[in-house]
Amino acid sequence: MIAFASPPESTTLPDYISPSAAKSYLACSLRFYFERVAEIKKPTTPALHLGKAVHAALQAFHLARWRGTDDSPEVIASAFEDSFLKLEREEGPVRWKEGERESCRLAGLRVIAAYLDSSEVLRGKPRAVEVPLTETIPGLSVPLTGVIDLVLENFAPIDFKSAAAKPDPQHAAFDHELQLVAYQLLLEAAIGEKPPALDLVYLVKTKVPKVIRVSSPPADGKRKDRVVRLIDTAVTGMSEGRFHPQPGMTCMSCQFRNECKRWPGIMDERRAAA
Ligand code: SF4
Repeated sequence: MIAFASPPESTTLPDYISPSAAKSYLACSLRFYFERVAEIKKPTTPALHLGKAVHAALQAFHLARWRGTDDSPEVIASAFEDSFLKLEREEGPVRWKEGERESCRLAGLRVIAAYLDSSEVLRGKPRAVEVPLTETIPGLSVPLTGVIDLVLENFAPIDFKSAAAKPDPQHAAFDHELQLVAYQLLLEAAIGEKPPALDLVYLVKTKVPKVIRVSSPPADGKRKDRVVRLIDTAVTGMSEGRFHPQPGMTCMSCQFRNECKRWPGIMDERRAAA
């Protein structure tokens, strides 16, 4: 049975904040608590497992381009297969339904082949691959940290997404604004360069896979300020121990619904449960 921690007497700032942690907190602070504070383990979903294995294969391809080593489709397919098995071993179990594992594996191979064959594939040598950055950003109480999938020669950051259906470009850019602008803030602080664009590349796992780029212009001062304030709202909430249910669309796919139902709500009971 999970104990719900009572809010701390005084605020305790996290050491740093990533855009994914801020977004997760803002979407539902209680789910964030279960996942990242209480660290309750749940079986990996097939979609998450496949997404991670595809990500590892893309990383292998981009690194090979950067190093000038073998980036043939066979080598990248093999990187996918290795990662698919390794993730099952090290981060599993995966909640497979009957027959789902093989169809998922084949879908991964198809979507990677589609990327390598698409007009969106990385050409030439990138500036950086899987680049971890941690920077002090004016207006943020703690350093901002993040790992950017790919930085092009012209300093444009790219984040890769696996999706089950074709994204709506406007919605996709809006949904990922916090992450994309955070990457711009990190790059500007680290190298003093303003990226020319903030890009998402979607690998869509339809029967005939699609590769779709969603490109946004770099953020101006207002957009950056909005994102900094959003991220700092998450930092303040975490530091004050504010974790509560935020029912909405995300509940449909939430793995913590049983734990959520037991949330006491009343402060005295929360303290007693802790
Ligand atoms: S069920 Fe909904 S409200 Fe409860 S923790 Fe999950 S996302 Fe949050």
